[in-house]
Amino acid sequence: MMKVKLYLNYAGYCFAKASHVVKGDKRENIKFHALFAIINHPKLGWILFDTGYTNRFYEETKKYPNKIYADITKVVIEDHQELKNQLQAFGIKTNEINHIIISHFHADHIGGLRDFPNAKIYCSKKAYYQVKMISNFFAFSKGILKGLIPDDIEQRIVYVEDCSKIYSDDIFGSKYDLFQDNSIISYNLPGHAAGQIGIEIETNRTKYLLAADSCWDFRAFKEYKLPSQIVKLFFNSWTEYKDSLLKLKKYHKINPQTIIVPTHCSKTTEKLVSDKINMDVL
Ligand SMILES: [Zn+2]
Repeated sequence: MMKVKLYLNYAGYCFAKASHVVKGDKRENIKFHALFAIINHPKLGWILFDTGYTNRFYEETKKYPNKIYADITKVVIEDHQELKNQLQAFGIKTNEINHIIISHFHADHIGGLRDFPNAKIYCSKKAYYQVKMISNFFAFSKGILKGLIPDDIEQRIVYVEDCSKIYSDDIFGSKYDLFQDNSIISYNLPGHAAGQIGIEIETNRTKYLLAADSCWDFRAFKEYKLPSQIVKLFFNSWTEYKDSLLKLKKYHKINPQTIIVPTHCSKTTEKLVSDKINMDVL
């Protein structure tokens, strides 16, 4: 693969029950960090993968029905943790960001979208169609807060299916070479959310598969440990979720050296995040 540089950190968190994340675990609260990735591409410059939470979450959940989202999900995000402020602290201007890849449209992944006016927004067709078609009233029930989506998204959206060079893949069916240069490969990981995608990249150190919410804990793809059935309520398709997880398990078996990074698995991400943007570390 064409090598890129990678930086990972959190933009806020919410709480989840450990017993929901992995069936059989303790009934204690654990932190669900909103991980984002900054990728430096040798030719295209800065590329973001997801954007974490922003304070806009509180604005958008003040009134019903969206307030139900905030009642169920206690979100903590401070100004300095917002992605745009983390970038600015290290001298990267928001208008220098030209590409943002969105795994899916849940609030903890797209909170920062409005902060990057010049960026093209890459996602799957299915992910965006759901956002477009769902009514303002029911959007929250699918984890979507429409107010977080930029007003001009129609002019900036790029479908992975349209821009990529597409190859067949033994595990995932298709692989999408996003920029047609073998730098970022996207795979379909639907189920948790409609049209969810993950991306594979390679740095000087190793390969990574940023797997979004296709699983919440590394034991899911190692041992096929499923979450509690209660989360079915919030998932787009339980059948697709299990299918994606089996594919991820197979991927891990064939590519044991690739670090699979589920967005909210602290046991995986704690070793990878750092306070300082240093693109040569990961
Ligand atoms: Zn998430």
